Parts: sequence; structure tokens; C-alpha cells
Amino acid sequence: MAATANEESGTHLDRQLIGKYNTPVPRYTSYPTALKFCIIDDAESREALCRDSEDTSPLSLYFHLPFCRKLCWFCGCTKVISTQQKHADTYLNYLEKEVSMVQPYLGPNRKVVQLHFGGGSPNFLSSSQIDRLSKIIHSRFDFEENAELSVEIDPRTMTRKKAQAFGRLGINRASIGVQDVNPLVQNAINRIQNSETNKETIATLKKAGIGKFNVDLIYGLPRQTADSFSKTLDEVIRYDPDRIALFSYAHVPWNKPAQKILEQSSLPSANEKIDMLTLSVDRLKQADYAHIGMDHFTKANDSLAIAQRAKSLQRNFQGYSIHGNAQICGFGISAISQSRKSYRQNFKDLETYYAYIDEGKRPVERGYLLTKDDQVRRCVIMRLMCDMELDFEKMGADLDLDFKSYFASEIVRLQRLADDELIEIDNHSFKVTDIGRILIRNVASVFDSTSKPGNNGYSKAI
Ligand code: SF4
Repeated sequence: MAATANEESGTHLDRQLIGKYNTPVPRYTSYPTALKFCIIDDAESREALCRDSEDTSPLSLYFHLPFCRKLCWFCGCTKVISTQQKHADTYLNYLEKEVSMVQPYLGPNRKVVQLHFGGGSPNFLSSSQIDRLSKIIHSRFDFEENAELSVEIDPRTMTRKKAQAFGRLGINRASIGVQDVNPLVQNAINRIQNSETNKETIATLKKAGIGKFNVDLIYGLPRQTADSFSKTLDEVIRYDPDRIALFSYAHVPWNKPAQKILEQSSLPSANEKIDMLTLSVDRLKQADYAHIGMDHFTKANDSLAIAQRAKSLQRNFQGYSIHGNAQICGFGISAISQSRKSYRQNFKDLETYYAYIDEGKRPVERGYLLTKDDQVRRCVIMRLMCDMELDFEKMGADLDLDFKSYFASEIVRLQRLADDELIEIDNHSFKVTDIGRILIRNVASVFDSTSKPGNNGYSKAI
């Protein structure tokens, strides 16, 4: 069997085996996945909101801020390319109206434990626009004292004044988009961003009181090799982030046509991606980062690492989180709201989003009401994506069912994964191996009754 170049240093991955499982499979930031959401009308969206208002769980707010100055060709986000600052003023007007429409349904005395600004580039906003966003939020929501308030930052458009405005708003964690520090790669993806800019951004954020930060990296981009990516890892480790998110580049040109441009430069093969991945896992472990879930690496004292050890880690649309029992309220284009029993997603284009709000309607395009079976499967899949193991009796007790009877056919299918050494299974439980962690999406998909590996629409496992 062909093994990867990193066999000697630690992680041993069999290329043929990975090739067998490297099929399109969901990332399971939700279950069922967003591709399964159905069109809903305003009355159904209002009904779902009313149902959620009976909940008493804390709130997790997500604001989608879609504007970016320039298109990165690899981008899979919902974004709007613009150089006009006034577009963000208009957007904030509508965000304020949407918050005013939704907030009264959330019931009194529910505190916010988590807030996240994603995009797009939230720091497209000027400092005065950030101050305005702060007013929109803080005038309507109460925050827990220890709430985590985070923002995604594009270092290329960061300034001291914007960092100070985020600090005034209460932001205490930043996710810094780096992707790769190699100029050849940056040129191939249309995102030139030198290391000085990254370091200045980190220093500026720290001066503004935003001390915790993540760095986001992507492997599988054009011109990347294991050698070049090793240098990126060395550079990023020197930044000393609390967390590193290591995402596999998801090539979905049928959904994101700009990604076709990347096919003109050479995209790494599946084997080259495996080399980058195994090298990264080993390199980050050597640098004392704990591997969290599927694609995060954190310092041992980070809240995600503590949650993983306590088996209380959670997974949602924003990735891994420590706030699992919170109801997620999403605002802005494409934002997804999640409660115990339902999902709702806003329109993805500005025109329809604005038009619905102008008509006094909630700008919700799609939704999904979870059946009891969906709720059971969501719980199993999310525990697997977080814990990398499952105890049948304990899971059955948590779900109030006989796990081995309910999932009898799934347990039979797990045996095939055990034969391929993705898991170690006995009569009571199973545990994901190192190679299984890399392919955890495939392992989780055994419990998915709505989409199977190989379905169109998802990115490949590696
Ligand atoms: S800055 Fe981020 S959201 Fe904007 S185009 Fe680049 S990758 Fe996409």
C-alpha cells in the first residue's frame, strides 16, 4: 500500500484508502444540510419564529456582512464585491429593520452568549459604520458577561480605527484570513497579502483589546506544494495564534463559477492534498496545538480544547463552538438561523433581501422543520464530528431510545469502516482512528438518511 511522505514523522495515511473515500460528502455544519432546505413563505417563517419564541435557551447572533473590495478566486462565501462605502450604509439600514422585525419574537430575558460577524469582509465597514452596527445590536440585546464576540478580519483592509471600533463593540476574538503566505499561491488566487500586513493586523487588534485570535488557512489551492505549505505553517506558528483553522479548499465551480479560473493554474492532486494535510497535522502537533474536531487546532488552554476534553464541544454553521444549547439567530443575506426544531435561511441576493424587508416581510427564502428522526440523527452526527467516538448505551440514554436497535443497519455498515481501519468498534462503542478523523465526514455520513456520499453539490472529503 502506498503511504504518505509523513509516515516516519507520525500520521500514517494510506493513499489508496483515502482515494476510495475521497468522494463528495457534506461538511455537517448542520443536519440535514442546507441543500435540503425547502422554499418557505412569510407565514411559515412567522410560524417558525413564533415556535422558537417558546424557547428559553440563550442566543447566538450571527451577522452576515457581505462586502469585499476585491474577489478572491477561490472564495465560496456569499459576498458582494464593491468599492463604494455607501453600499454598507444601505445594508445597515436593512439589517436594522430585520433585527427590529425578529427581536420581539425572541422573548424577554434571553441573553446573548455568542456573536459572530462573518462575510464577506466585516472590516469592509468603516469605523463609524461599525459603531452604528454596535448601536443596532446593543440597543436590542443583552449580553452575558463572558459572551464570546468574534469577527472575521481581512488584514488587507484593516485599520487602527476599525480595530478600535470593534473593541468598543465588545469584540474579543478575531479570525484572520491568511490562507497561504506564499506570493505564488497568492497571485494564483488573486489575493496578495504580505506577512507584514498580517503581523500589523494582529498587533493593531491586540492594542484595541482584542487579544484572542485565530488564523484561517486553506490547503489545496493552486501552486501549493507540501514544501511551500510547510513554510506557511512555520510563518503562521510564529504569529502565535490561539487557534488555527485548516480548511480543505472546496472546489465547487458549478456553484461558484469564479473558481473555474483556478483550473488554469495547476490545482494540487488528491495525493498532494493528502501530503499537505498529513504534514500540517504533524507540524501543528509538534508545535503543541491540539487537533480539535475535523479541522481546528488550538492551544491546550483554549476553550475549544477544554470543551473537547469535557465532551461538550459543539458544531454549527460557524464551525466548532462551545455554545451548543444556544438558539442561533442569523441576520443579513444568506444568514441561517437554527433552533432545536428548525432551520431558516435568508435570501442570498441583496435585491430580494431588500425587497422583502421593504414589504414588511421577513427575508427568509428557505427552511426546514426537523422530524424526530432528524433530531436524533443530528445529535449523533454532531457528537461524532466533535468527540470522534460514540458510546451506544450513553448515546441511547441521551436520546431516550435503544441505540443498537434504532441504528441496527448503520452499525452493520460501520463494520466496513472498521475493516478499512477508519474506526475501531466493539459491541458497545466505536472510536475514530487517525485516518478516520481525516475522513470523519464519511464516518458521520453513515448516520445521514438524507444525503449519501457521491451526491452532487458537496465538496470532496479531502
Ligand atoms: S475577502 Fe473573504 S469573503 Fe471576500 S472574496 Fe476574499 S475570501 Fe471571499
